[in-house]
Amino acid sequence: MTNASALPAAAPWIVLKFGGTSVSTPQRWATIRALAASRRAEGARVLLVVSALSGVTDALKALCGLADVGARAAAAADIAARHRDLLRALGLDRLPALDAHLAELAALATAAEHDYAWQAAVQSMGELLSSTLGAAALSAQGLATAWLDARSCLLATPLPNQNERTRRLSASVECNADTALAARLAACGEVLITQGFIARDQAGRTVLLGRGGSDTSAAYFGALLAAARVEIWTDVAGMFSANPRQVPDARLLTRLDYEEAQEIATTGAKVLHPRSLSPLRDPRVPLLIKDTQRPELDGTVIGPEAASDAPSVKAISARKGITLIAMESVGMWQQVGFLADVFALFKQHGLSVDLIGSAETNVTVSLDPSENLLDSDAIAALAADLARVCRVKVIAPCAAVTLVGRGMRAMLHRLSTVLAEFGQVKVHLISQSSNNLNLTFVVDEATVDALLPRLHDLLLRAGALRAGDRALFGPSWQALYGAATAAPPPPWWREPAARARLLAIAAEATPRYVYHLPTLRERARALQALTAVDRWYYAIKANPHPALLAALAAEGFGLECVSPGELAAAERAAPQAARLFTPNFAPRADYAAALAADVPVTLDALHPLLHWGELFRDRELILRLDLGRGLGHHEKVRTGGAGSKFGLPVSDLDLFLRRAEALGARVTGLHAHLGSGILDPRHWAQVCGELASLADRIGTVAFLDVGGGLGVPAAEGEPALDLAALDAALLEVKRAYPHYALWMEPGRYLVAEAGVLLARVTQIKHKEGVAYLGADAGMNSLIRPALYDARHAIVNLTRPDDRADTLYQVVGPICESGDVLGSDRRLPAAAEGDVLLIADAGAYGASMASHYNLRKPAAETVLS
Ligand code: ADP
Ligand code: ASP
Ligand code: MG
Repeated sequence: MTNASALPAAAPWIVLKFGGTSVSTPQRWATIRALAASRRAEGARVLLVVSALSGVTDALKALCGLADVGARAAAAADIAARHRDLLRALGLDRLPALDAHLAELAALATAAEHDYAWQAAVQSMGELLSSTLGAAALSAQGLATAWLDARSCLLATPLPNQNERTRRLSASVECNADTALAARLAACGEVLITQGFIARDQAGRTVLLGRGGSDTSAAYFGALLAAARVEIWTDVAGMFSANPRQVPDARLLTRLDYEEAQEIATTGAKVLHPRSLSPLRDPRVPLLIKDTQRPELDGTVIGPEAASDAPSVKAISARKGITLIAMESVGMWQQVGFLADVFALFKQHGLSVDLIGSAETNVTVSLDPSENLLDSDAIAALAADLARVCRVKVIAPCAAVTLVGRGMRAMLHRLSTVLAEFGQVKVHLISQSSNNLNLTFVVDEATVDALLPRLHDLLLRAGALRAGDRALFGPSWQALYGAATAAPPPPWWREPAARARLLAIAAEATPRYVYHLPTLRERARALQALTAVDRWYYAIKANPHPALLAALAAEGFGLECVSPGELAAAERAAPQAARLFTPNFAPRADYAAALAADVPVTLDALHPLLHWGELFRDRELILRLDLGRGLGHHEKVRTGGAGSKFGLPVSDLDLFLRRAEALGARVTGLHAHLGSGILDPRHWAQVCGELASLADRIGTVAFLDVGGGLGVPAAEGEPALDLAALDAALLEVKRAYPHYALWMEPGRYLVAEAGVLLARVTQIKHKEGVAYLGADAGMNSLIRPALYDARHAIVNLTRPDDRADTLYQVVGPICESGDVLGSDRRLPAAAEGDVLLIADAGAYGASMASHYNLRKPAAETVLS
C-alpha cells in the first residue's frame, strides 16, 4: 500500500464524486486511483462518492416496474452479470462483499412487497455494488481504500409537504459541519469510498435522493466534513453555456458563483443536480466540475466570489415536460383571498407551482415535472376543482427556455435580436426572476430543440453572452470534443527536422528558450494582411529579444514601449522603427525623456496634466481611456474596469480635455486596451466603435488605438482567433467612422507560438501514488502557470512515439509549492535526461523571468 504516511488530525477533506460513465470501465478506475492519490498527496483526506455503473439505475427502475417475478429475477441476473464482468476486467476474480450485495438484490427482486420503500431498496443497489467494486479495485491497485455505508452518515430530513413517494425516492438531508462525524471517518482511513444517491430515514430504512442525486450526496458530505472542495467528475469538462449535446458551440463556463450555477442547474443543466449547491453555500465550499476522461481540461469552478461584475448571459437552458395551467376569471383576481384559495387547491393536490404570470383577468402558472408527480390524473383532478372558481385551460407539453446571468435587466438592450427570434414561435408565458438572474419563456415543447442552438448563436452575436471574456468562458464543446474538422496546422516544432535541431540545442544546455523567426514572420504577415488596420505596433513587453524586435521592425511594425528600458532596447535593436511610449504610473522623468526623444506619449491619468503641465505644453497626446470593463484569460491580465489601475475613466474625460486645452496640448489619438488573451474577433470592433463615438466629441483625434490582447489558443482544440472575422468587424466600424485611422498593438499574438522552452528531466518521484516529473526549468523561467494558471502544452521530445499513458505533475526546481509547469498531464513514461518541450512560451516567458532561488533563468536561442 502506498498511502502509508499518517495525516495530521486536522487534515482537510476533499470529496470527489464520479458519475455513472466515470465508474464503468477499468481505465476509469485507473484514473480515479490517480486522482485520489494526487488529492491525498496534497495532504488531504479523500472521500470518493460514486454513482451506479451507467445505465444501472435505469435498469433497476425498470426492474421495479416488471409485474412478473421471473422477469424481475432475470433482470437482477443481468445486472449481476454486468458487475461480475467489470470485476474480472479489473483483474479481480472473487469478491465476497460483492456476492453479498448481489444476493441481496436477487432477494429483493423476488420479494412480495412492492411499495416505495421496496423501490428505494432496489434502486439503492446500484451504488452499493459500484462502491464495493471500487473499494476492491483501488485497494488492489495499491491505494488502500475503506468502504463506507453512506446511510450511516446521511439522515434524511422529513419535510412538511412531502408525500410517501417523495419521502422515499426524493429525500433531502440537512447538513451542518459535523466534527464528530469527520473524526469517525478519519479513523476509518485516509481514502474512503461511499455511495451517492442513498441515505437513511429516521427508522433506519434506505431512501433515495432523487435521480441524479449522487451530486447531492457529494455536496452533503462536503458540508458535513467542511471539505476544502467538492469535485464532480463526469463526462463533460464542466458546465457549458447550453447543453453541449444540443448546442455544440456552447462555451465552457470556467468560473461561476453559487447563485448563477444554481440557476443554470435548476433551469435544466443536468450536469449538476439542482440540490447540490445549497449545502455548500454557507460553509463556502467550492465545487469543481471536471471530465474524468480528460482530466487535463480546465473544468468549471463554482464558488462564493462573483467572477465578474459586468453583466453577461452565462447560459441558456431548457426544461421539457412543463405543464401550464391558465386560469381566467373576470375581475376576481383583486379580491382579497382569491389567489390564496386557488393556490390552496394546488397544495391539496400535491402540486408545486414554479412560474407565475398574472393579468387583470388571467393567472397562468407552470408545473415543473422535477418537483411534481405529473400524472394526468392529478392534473385532471386539480382542473376539476379549479373549474368551480374560474375557467381553466391546461397547456401541455411545453418547454421552459431560460436565459441565465447576473444583472439580466441591465442586458435587455443587447437582447433585441434574441427576443426577435421568439417572434417565430408561440410564447405562452414570460417570467423574469425577482433575483434578476433569469428570464424565462415558455413555448411549445416541440419547438425547443430547434430553437436552442439558434438562440445561443444570437446571444453570442449580440455580445450578450460575452464569450470573448476568457476569465468566464472557455472553449466551445465542439472545439474540445468535436471531430477535428479544420485541425490547425501543426506547430513548427512538430516537424522532424525541427525536433532534431531542438534536441541538439538541448544537448548543449537546458533550460533554454528557442525562438523560431519564420513563425514570427508568418504571424506578422497575417496581421499586416488585415485591411482595416492602418498601423501596427508590437508590444515589446511580451518579448524584447533584439532579434525579434529587428525581425518585426523589418515586417513594418512599430514598437510599443512601457518603460525607458524598453525604449532603449527598441532604439538599439531597430533604430528605424517608430516607437510609442505607453507607461502606467511612471515617474515624471520617464515622460520627459520620451518627449525629449520625440516619442509619442500616452497618458492615462489626470495627474501628469495637473501637476507636470509644462511638460506637455503645445504637445500632441494620446489618451488611454478605461471603458469601464476588463477582459482576458485571467483576472490578473484584465486592464479595464473597477479594480484595474489602467486608463482614465470616461467620467474624467471633459476635465482632461479642458486641462489639455489650457496647455495648448491636443489629443490626437484615443487608446483602450481591455486585457489579454481575447479570442472573440468582434471584441476590437466594439472597442473601436466606443472610442470613435468619444473621439467625435473631442474633434482633434486622428487615430484610434484599440490595443492588443489578441489571444492564442491555450487549451487543446481551442480554435485560433479568426483574423478574417476580426478584419470584417473592424471594417464595418471603419465604414461608419472613415475619418479615423486605426492602430493596433499586439504582443503575445506575434511571439507566443514562435517560442518554446526546452527543459531536461531531473528526477522522477512517485509519492502517495502521484507521479512527479521534475524539470530543470521552473517558475523562475516561466511564471505564467503559477501567476495566471496559464496552460502550456508539454511534450516529451525524446519520446515522440511512446504512448502518453502516465499522469504526471510536471514541476520545476524552485522551492515553492506553486512551481508547477503543468498539472494532470498525460505523457509517456519518462526517464532522467529526457527533453521536455513547453509550448507557446515565446510571450511573457523570458521577459518575466527572474533569478529567484539564485537560479539562472533559461537562456535564449534564435532560429532564423
Ligand atoms: P453523471 O452521470 O456523471 O452524473 P450526467 O449525465 O448526470 O453525468 O450529467 C452530464 C451531462 O449533462 C452531460 O453529458 C450533458 O449531456 C448534460 N448537460 C445538460 N446541460 C448541460 C450543460 N449546460 N453543461 C454541461 N452538460 C450539460
Ligand atoms: N445513479 C443515480 C441515477 O442514475 C444517481 C446518480 O447517478 O447521480 O440517477
Ligand atoms: Mg448526474
